[in-house]
Amino acid sequence: MTEHNGQAGAETERLDFVRQIVADDCKSGKWDGRVHTRFPPEPNGYLHIGHAKSICLNFGIAAQFGGKCNLRFDDTNPCKEEQEYVDSIIHDVRWLGWDWEDRLYFASDYFEQMYQWAVELIQKGKAFVCDLTAEQTRRHRGTLTEPGTESPYRDRSIEENLDLFARMRAGDFPDGARTLRAKIDMSHPNINMRDPVIYRILHAAHHRTGDTWCIYPMYDWAHGLEDSIEGITHSICTLEFENHRPLYDWFLDALAVHHPQQIEFARLNLTYTLMSKRKLLRLVQDKYVSGWDDPRMPTLGGLRRRGFSPDSIRKFCKVIGVNKFNSTIDYALLEHCVREDLNRTSPRVMAVLRPLKVVLSNYPDGQVEWLEAINNPEDPAAGTRKVPFSKVLYIEQDDFMEDAPKKFFRLAPGREVRLRYAYFIRCDEVVKDADGTIIELRCSYDPATRGGDAPDGRKVKATLHWVAAEQALDAEVRLYEHLFTKEDPEQTEDGQDFTANINPDSLQILTGCKVEPSLKDTEPLQRCQFERLGYFCADPDSTAGKLVFNRTVTLKDTWAKLQKKQKK
Ligand code: ATP
Ligand code: MG
Repeated sequence: MTEHNGQAGAETERLDFVRQIVADDCKSGKWDGRVHTRFPPEPNGYLHIGHAKSICLNFGIAAQFGGKCNLRFDDTNPCKEEQEYVDSIIHDVRWLGWDWEDRLYFASDYFEQMYQWAVELIQKGKAFVCDLTAEQTRRHRGTLTEPGTESPYRDRSIEENLDLFARMRAGDFPDGARTLRAKIDMSHPNINMRDPVIYRILHAAHHRTGDTWCIYPMYDWAHGLEDSIEGITHSICTLEFENHRPLYDWFLDALAVHHPQQIEFARLNLTYTLMSKRKLLRLVQDKYVSGWDDPRMPTLGGLRRRGFSPDSIRKFCKVIGVNKFNSTIDYALLEHCVREDLNRTSPRVMAVLRPLKVVLSNYPDGQVEWLEAINNPEDPAAGTRKVPFSKVLYIEQDDFMEDAPKKFFRLAPGREVRLRYAYFIRCDEVVKDADGTIIELRCSYDPATRGGDAPDGRKVKATLHWVAAEQALDAEVRLYEHLFTKEDPEQTEDGQDFTANINPDSLQILTGCKVEPSLKDTEPLQRCQFERLGYFCADPDSTAGKLVFNRTVTLKDTWAKLQKKQKK
């Protein structure tokens, strides 16, 4: 089910619960008035719109309270991490408009300190080397209703533990032969507290530390230490970590080091898409999409290529707010935010996606008029441009109907419409090929209506966009729909997985489109509105010789419509 917890437009200055905690702490002087957050991605995939929520929360809080926010790579798992992901994450956070100044950190830089702290834990009698296999450890753990069983290695002497742990580090044992575990409580009601593993043996090269280490820290151990080292005050994470918090606290208390406060918030879920990095990777690897930045992907790279502006994503994150309960946000709200932003910022141009040739019988051969067109009615500073008008034009195929019903107000035989910024034209004749397909319209224009109004006051019911044939540029236009057919792509029949819900019609490529000549030098990722059609963005594949545009969104705002209906 879709639940809306964001009211587009209805911004209040009320603080969300995380900001309230931060505000209270500032007031009480809990951290000496310091606010220090971090965004801690694991470099094992590209960032998506869910990460944007976390980025805007962490960086946004720092900005709002005069604090700092670090960008920290939580790179404790050597197997799935790559430099490619590090680079893309840095690019994406910057693109969103946030700045970590000189505070770019890597958890792997703290490996030695983490190791020393593990030694300290052993010395305090709070950690032990365990020889159980992964499978045995799992079986000893117990269940939600049954306590676990203590490891037979739990009571090793401190000396033996120190020696074995040093030898684990030295590479004396194969993968999985031993672990270092915290000595907490095997009958603790919270399973995370049942002597969790804090180090594992893994003879694998790390993308930054190479072969220096063959033991790697587990997430729960590493994360709090990273926060502590960096002097973080508020360690903001998603709800799944709520029952890891006691462990976060236990480690920092056991070491008696700087102890940030962990706060959990609900992660973002969106209809018709997925946020799991593992599943997004699958879409890429199995070639359901063209790559991480396929415009149908919910990744920041995908949204960027699709034409989303950083402002629209930040606005969306603001509108959805932050709370403690998981819910799913309607994708239409994201589109609403991008529309609002692009409406303010996008230059308007004319493009015809499915061209129908129009010949103006009474227009002088060879004449070209350069007519003035408004670049952005929402932004007077955007000025005007000239568009060419001449005898042969293109209009949109579906702006004409031969047997038009009463309610069809656009062009039809004998009917008159306005061409935007130009003249009234009337359709006099329909030209068909041997198969009966309409290939051309013969029309006449009224020279008295230049600029779009008739001096005799007669009205037309439609204004069409158009381009002049001779000066038009050819373009390819890619239209996108949701990548999945179901609101919840995970909802499948037995034995199927989410790929069963992939929308086979999520990409439609139109070639032979015609766009106005002002688009000649369009740069990749440049955004515009094609009048009456939607917002579009030049694809990185686009060149001066071959223009390619992606449709960001149509103009129809289903979200705004829904809100209006609900208010009635
Ligand atoms: P993984 O399963 O690999 O841990 P992840 O999506 O949690 O996947 P991280 O790189 O650990 O990826 O995420 C970085 C930060 O972004 C974390 O603090 C995480 O809580 C947050 N985050 C991830 N997904 C979402 C989401 N859908 N909504 C809000 N925050 C998210
Ligand atoms: Mg994570």
